[in-house]
Amino acid sequence: NPDTDFSELATIDWRGAKLNRAQLKAKLPRPEMNSQTAAEVVQQIINDVREHGMETLKDLAKRFDKVELEHTRVPQAELDRALNELDPQVRLALEESIKRARSFAQAQLPQDVTVEYGHGGTVTQRWVPVRRVGLYVPGGLAVYPSSVIMNTIPAQAAGVTSLALASPPQADFGGLPHPTILAAAKLLGITEVHAMGGAQAVAAFAYGVQVPNDQRGDIEPVDVISGPGNVFVATAKRLVKGVVGIDAEAGPTEIAILADETANASFVAADMISQAEHDANAAAVLVTDSPALATAVRAELSTQVAATKHTERVQQALSGRQSAIILVDDLDQGVEVCNAYAAEHLEILTINAAEVAARINAAGAIFVGEFAPVSLGDYCAGSNHVLPTSGTALHASGLNVNTFLKAIQVINYDKSALAEVATHVINLANAEDLPAHGDAVAVRQAH
Ligand code: NAD
Repeated sequence: NPDTDFSELATIDWRGAKLNRAQLKAKLPRPEMNSQTAAEVVQQIINDVREHGMETLKDLAKRFDKVELEHTRVPQAELDRALNELDPQVRLALEESIKRARSFAQAQLPQDVTVEYGHGGTVTQRWVPVRRVGLYVPGGLAVYPSSVIMNTIPAQAAGVTSLALASPPQADFGGLPHPTILAAAKLLGITEVHAMGGAQAVAAFAYGVQVPNDQRGDIEPVDVISGPGNVFVATAKRLVKGVVGIDAEAGPTEIAILADETANASFVAADMISQAEHDANAAAVLVTDSPALATAVRAELSTQVAATKHTERVQQALSGRQSAIILVDDLDQGVEVCNAYAAEHLEILTINAAEVAARINAAGAIFVGEFAPVSLGDYCAGSNHVLPTSGTALHASGLNVNTFLKAIQVINYDKSALAEVATHVINLANAEDLPAHGDAVAVRQAH
């Protein structure tokens, strides 16, 4: 049965290979469609939104989402209705997820710090929330009410006062975002929800949209855009970065699993499938020093993929060039490979898993031991599921309260505190041939 034949899941054998960081980065499995390859089509969408605003949002809703829109704003009555009609079990689950995410986000709030210089000089670092944020909640192949929580909770904990949420319009729900997304938004007190998705939603948030003669349709530009999405969404965030802040490029999901012979092959296979079901572009990578485990995982995949709901998508993701089993000599080499790959999600399924995890310095989130699967983190661990992909975890962090905060440094010196360093300022100003800088200090001393 071709649907369950995993001969296409590549094996990369790096046993005995001494690859340096540059070679590793070049050879690691990555998807064919990435932010470079998608950039051209996404830039065109951004340009169209800037030029034609709501007209482009309507056109693309028709093209991609098969929906006719008048404007994007979701009426309050629809938010109320969605929450009233929400399945009580799902409501309880959302509430538990909210509770756990909120306590973790609140604990992250950084403290202001002040340092005194001499007598009468202080410098303070004050954390201030951005004013307005655009929260993206995916809704193409699957819908993600969990992403409403993951975006909103840290923004609220940071103290952001203006929150707008966007999610693709759904043809099956009268052109509105999915009702569970609306219900989650209502549960969290969000009142501004837009039925828009993809790169065009990111562009609308970044540049704003004005609708002549109908201000109900206006979308005010935001300061920060956060949230996960497919390659088009992630690429759009990359392209508008600078115009607005972004959390990270949280694109198609990745799971890497570092496992030794002690790992349970059926858990490994289940976790690979759980992330592969997001997207044909999703990546599942097993890094192991145990050929026996690799064989057992292949056998498990054959059985479990055949039985899962989204078999075709999973099969595409696992057979894409972004997914593989990588054989290594030992855990040391495994750690090196994982640190170069910088997975969005990294599971450690080895003996002494916590010690191995402590050696990881690049990952969106690390899941330690066999009872912390990625899907726990997707919904209810307390951690955030909006995480950097495509190796950007080398420099970027998962969504957290800092995403929505700015540090402002406040300098407060009196005359005597200034006098203590005046000569140094004047000398440095002269050394840079910027004597007017020194004069601005000297004029105060003479005063
Ligand atoms: P989505 O909302 O991200 O994208 C759907 C939209 O993509 C459509 O509305 C359309 O506007 C646009 N689109 C589709 N095809 C296009 C094309 N050919 N050209 C231009 N635009 C196009 O929903 P999705 O597709 O279901 O993807 C959700 C993604 O989010 C998955 O890849 C999943 O892995 C990822 N995800 C990532 C994280 C993370 O933190 N990294 C977390 C959760 C989900």
